[in-house]
Amino acid sequence: MVFAHDTEASLQAAVDLVNSDRDAAELADLRAIRPVLRDLLTADRDRAAALANAMLAEANAVPQLVRHGDIDWHLHAVSSDEPLVRRVVVETAMAVSDLVRSDEMTRLSVCADDSCGGVVLDLTRNRSRRFCSTTCANRNAVAAYRARSRVPTRPVTS
Ligand SMILES: [Zn+2]
Ligand SMILES: [Zn+2]
Repeated sequence: MVFAHDTEASLQAAVDLVNSDRDAAELADLRAIRPVLRDLLTADRDRAAALANAMLAEANAVPQLVRHGDIDWHLHAVSSDEPLVRRVVVETAMAVSDLVRSDEMTRLSVCADDSCGGVVLDLTRNRSRRFCSTTCANRNAVAAYRARSRVPTRPVTS
């Protein structure tokens, strides 16, 4: 684990939401915040700081240490009875705050597949993740293989 458990969980949830297709986005409220989250997750460090601050202020977020279930002391900045959309925005802003202050915004990037545009969350130790999904990784591996093994075409002589 690279970051605190709740930071990683919130980031992963936000990335999944931004990258999700129609089934998850059927909830209109969540769908509406996808561009906002995408903007935050793909911003450079200074802009991410400003965006996270604005989101936390707008939601009147009040960080509180809580301990529940099997999870040791961690931060909640919004009560669990607030609407889901507000919780997602605040939790994502809190997680991004963690990345900003540890100068780790490069953990977030846009998928290396030219046609995808998905957000990539790289929590690997060697920062090797370039694609948003195995689908994109496989498609590009196949394309790279084909490009390598392409035989140069020569005119056919009879
Ligand atoms: Zn919790
Ligand atoms: Zn992708």
